[in-house]
Amino acid sequence: MSFQRRTIMAGELRAEHIGQRVVLNGWVDGVRDMGGVLFFDVRDRSGKAQCVIRPVQSTASTDSRTLYETARKLRSEFVVAVAGIVQRRENSNPKIPTGEIEIEISDLEILNPSEVPPFEVKEDTNANEDLRLKYRYLDLRRPSLQANLAMRHKIVKSIRDYFDERGFYEIETPIMMKATPEGARDFLVPSRLHPGSFYALPQSPQLYKQVLMIAGFDRYFQIARCFRDEDLRADRQPEFTQLDVEMSFPNEDIVYDVMENCLARVWSDVGLTLPSPFVQLSYHEAMSRFGTDKPDLRYGLEIQTLTEILRGKTEFKVFNDVLEKRLGVIGAVVAPATSNGAPATSSGAPATSNGAPAAWSRKQLDTLTDLAKVYGAGGLVWVKLTAEGCDSSAKKFLPEDVLKDICSVCGAQVGDLILIISHPKWERAYTILGALRIELAKRLELLKGKEHTFAPAWITNFPMFEEDEGTRDDGSSSFTFKHHPFTSPDPRDWARRSEGLEHVRARAYDIVINGYELGSGSIRIHDRTMQEEVFDLLGHTKAQQIEKFGFILEAFQYGAPPHGGMALGIDRIVMLCTGTDNIRDVIAFPKTTSMQNLMDGSPSVIEERQLKELHLAIHK
Ligand code: ASP
Repeated sequence: MSFQRRTIMAGELRAEHIGQRVVLNGWVDGVRDMGGVLFFDVRDRSGKAQCVIRPVQSTASTDSRTLYETARKLRSEFVVAVAGIVQRRENSNPKIPTGEIEIEISDLEILNPSEVPPFEVKEDTNANEDLRLKYRYLDLRRPSLQANLAMRHKIVKSIRDYFDERGFYEIETPIMMKATPEGARDFLVPSRLHPGSFYALPQSPQLYKQVLMIAGFDRYFQIARCFRDEDLRADRQPEFTQLDVEMSFPNEDIVYDVMENCLARVWSDVGLTLPSPFVQLSYHEAMSRFGTDKPDLRYGLEIQTLTEILRGKTEFKVFNDVLEKRLGVIGAVVAPATSNGAPATSSGAPATSNGAPAAWSRKQLDTLTDLAKVYGAGGLVWVKLTAEGCDSSAKKFLPEDVLKDICSVCGAQVGDLILIISHPKWERAYTILGALRIELAKRLELLKGKEHTFAPAWITNFPMFEEDEGTRDDGSSSFTFKHHPFTSPDPRDWARRSEGLEHVRARAYDIVINGYELGSGSIRIHDRTMQEEVFDLLGHTKAQQIEKFGFILEAFQYGAPPHGGMALGIDRIVMLCTGTDNIRDVIAFPKTTSMQNLMDGSPSVIEERQLKELHLAIHK
């Protein structure tokens, strides 16, 4: 088919093009009839430009009359080729980059009409997300989604350039593979040729990248698709993309350097700034200061530990029960003075109309108590610093000097409210406080204006094992891995493993930015004996070890170099750089939270014949 090919993208037109003849190819974006003068925009991925066609006299040439008649047929989303002279607009629109110009159209060809779309293709659409996902191709025409996917392209290109320059090879690993556990459920693919056998889709290329190190490739990366059959949340998809990295002969500092520089480069390539070097926090420090191993460091509100200042100082049974426990913690977060949960003033302490800081209301306190309970607190004790002194919900059991100590440790100001919780398990205690910290930050709008501020951190020294909820059949407690079972323990702790597995730290690390875990990694085990012992501790029988991991255990015996690496979520990187909190905004064809693709209708029923071929039967 021959039609006039574009000479320029619509969004590139500027005043400097005035007087030139241009051709645009694109979509009609709204048609306006202003007393016979027809205005419409032509949109392509670069933006849009206004076009104008004026009514013609009955004496006008056939060509002009045909042009006008064709133009009257135009509707939104028609695909067109238009040509004309760029001219200055009478009323320029400073809000759009092409706002100074319009094109006086002299040629118009409709390349394809469009049905009336089920929703208008515009930025501030209020069409619901399901409808937009069903007509994803229309939704993707919106400028913000076009910009997000352009940003994604840039980010991936920047990553590839970076690793190429540093001597890493990108090597593809299988999509149909043997299941390797990363802690999630596998997606399985039945084998036609091997009845009853299944491939798994990779949760990550973990074992393959380790094998590549054993095979001598030294430095590997891959933009890898990963699949995990988990319940979805706003920042998760069943299939997602990781930047997967592995190196031979590294230590933690080498990995930190490679990954930090990669992210700094990506941020700078898309016009953003990422502070570096990253802050480093041990798991214990992150938990005890921020109540989470993925802290948002863009604001303070740090947790204060009160365990020691309360020991032997109170008659309060709730606290004393916790103080008796070896791992019990009493801790606090300070809610700065505020008025009705409204944002704090720039001084951090909002004033009432008479200038005095406002106290937190009973109702606000009740909702914070409810939140603490949801996270597992028995209750919440408050201490208030007023101009008259300290007040507290546990005044009966906490003498004046103890209340004062609490206020001073917490650095409380008049009007502040100190929220105290206690729990016999330290991680739980801090998790509850962390949830309160996040809630307070929300209410105080501490993140307002910080959407493009980034606070990256390494979280290090994770525990190697985690106690499992249940116990084994023989009554002993069972352990599971915190990262994955191929992570090397810290050799200093490993030597003392007989004293208790809870003390063994892993050579594992995470990168966290603004409260998101961007990814994790570790220095790996490369020794068969150690790997087998870790499997033993995790409760795998020898037979299971051979059946599931025999190939890697064997590979360790043929000159496996020390190696380590990490993986980062590309989707999350793009989310951070584009400022969205919805992962579906950065993936072209995402699934819904019930794991469906509303556009193509997957997952879908398959034919009986296919089931037979795969030796499968469906239980109804
Ligand atoms: N395979 C790990 C993951 O997907 C990352 C790593 O340890 O390199 O989380």
